[in-house]
Amino acid sequence: MKNRLKKVYDVVIVGGGPAGLAAAVGARAAGAERILVIDREIEAGGILNQCIHSGFGLHHFKEELTGPEYAERFIRQVESGGIEILTDAYVMDIGSDLQLEVISGALGHLNLKARAVVLAMGCRERTRGAIRTPGFRPAGVMTAGLAQKLVNMKGVLPGRRIAILGSGDIGLIMARRLRLEGCEVVGVYEVQPYSSGLTRNVVQCLDDFAIPLHLSSTVAFIHGRDRLEKLTVAPVDEQLAPDLSRSFEVACDTLLLSIGLIPENELSTRLRLRMDPATGGPQVTSTLETSFPGVFACGNVLHVHDLVDFVTEEALRAGRFAAEVALDRRRPGDNIALQPGANIASCVPHSLASGREQVIYLRVKRPLKDCVLTVGDRYEKSFRRLLPAEMIRLTLPPEVLERFFGDSLNIDIRPKGEV
Ligand SMILES: Cc1cc2nc3c(=O)[nH]c(=O)nc-3n(C[C@H](O)[C@H](O)[C@H](O)COP(=O)(O)OP(=O)(O)OC[C@H]3O[C@@H](n4cnc5c(N)ncnc54)[C@H](O)[C@@H]3O)c2cc1C
Repeated sequence: MKNRLKKVYDVVIVGGGPAGLAAAVGARAAGAERILVIDREIEAGGILNQCIHSGFGLHHFKEELTGPEYAERFIRQVESGGIEILTDAYVMDIGSDLQLEVISGALGHLNLKARAVVLAMGCRERTRGAIRTPGFRPAGVMTAGLAQKLVNMKGVLPGRRIAILGSGDIGLIMARRLRLEGCEVVGVYEVQPYSSGLTRNVVQCLDDFAIPLHLSSTVAFIHGRDRLEKLTVAPVDEQLAPDLSRSFEVACDTLLLSIGLIPENELSTRLRLRMDPATGGPQVTSTLETSFPGVFACGNVLHVHDLVDFVTEEALRAGRFAAEVALDRRRPGDNIALQPGANIASCVPHSLASGREQVIYLRVKRPLKDCVLTVGDRYEKSFRRLLPAEMIRLTLPPEVLERFFGDSLNIDIRPKGEV
């Protein structure tokens, strides 16, 4: 493999999950020849390899696939396109000249040069420390994703009587998986008055299996010295503070945490990229280029996606734009800053270019009914129902921003009566 590795690549992609694989396919389609995907795991596919349930690919392939099936389709496309994949290799650093420092299990220490880099490192799960749940530190408290890996890839059950804190999608999917494996799932406790997972997952994973979802509730104390024994669960007030006067105890031996994902941004911070505190990922232009010229970002490292199909779509574009820069075909830069306004929790990209089709992804701060999204006075779209868990994808046709001479536009979502 060492001899086959080139010293200089058109595009190097960090991360071989669905984002990295699609970025490679996009870069190849745009004409890049020397493309390398690097992943620290022993095989490409990213988190999809542990997602053995179905529900992937409904948008992209118009078929319902499992995670590994979805990943395999892209791995085949990458391999048949002559794109190199280096697994069991960790990208430690990216220098200002786009030189990548890589440690490979098989090849040792490597230095590779890229003309453009795509960051596709995915995300990691928030842990107990992030929400500072009081109590002891017994065995049996873990993230839902770790439990998913144990059950689906190692064949190990994390426990027998399971409680889940947070109603993120991974927690909902694990509630169903563990019930199917014969465990008792005592309940899902969500601090917000609404689920943070997709509606389809609440219905298919909880309702269909009669697993109770307790909204506006949290775990107020973790009991057990060696192994988890029970939880104190309390309803929360409007400030999300637990009301201990109404608390109750729940006996269980395992607590799964499904309390959010954070972009894996070690390399982004080492590169001193301009970051967006709302997404936790880097700020990007409409061509998904970060504040470091020649470095692009896509997938969950940029902002946490709800559906892998959107990851793929975004990453195909990131790969294409990275290839254009590598091949000295850079497009004119953006001329309009995009400012998230009323009810917008986060918005990607952070700037737009007039005269081109623009794709915008955003999330709302709270559930909204019968509302209107506006981009300045240039564009509006009505929605009947929006949820923070569900990402909104918007395509602005080129004519929307044509002959716009301002330097910024606000994006807002307001209930119909307020517009
Ligand atoms: C535990 C978990 C379960 C999920 N389950 C679902 C689900 O059921 N359905 C769904 O639609 N979405 C699910 N998601 C969301 C899912 O992450 C996205 O849909 C999608 O997998 C994101 O793709 P990605 O390529 O951005 O990230 P990932 O799939 O996470 O891939 C990133 C890859 O980058 C590699 N990497 C990171 N840093 C480096 C480095 N420095 N050097 C080399 N390699 C590196 C990682 O090893 C990983 O393979 C889940 C997420 C998590 C965390």
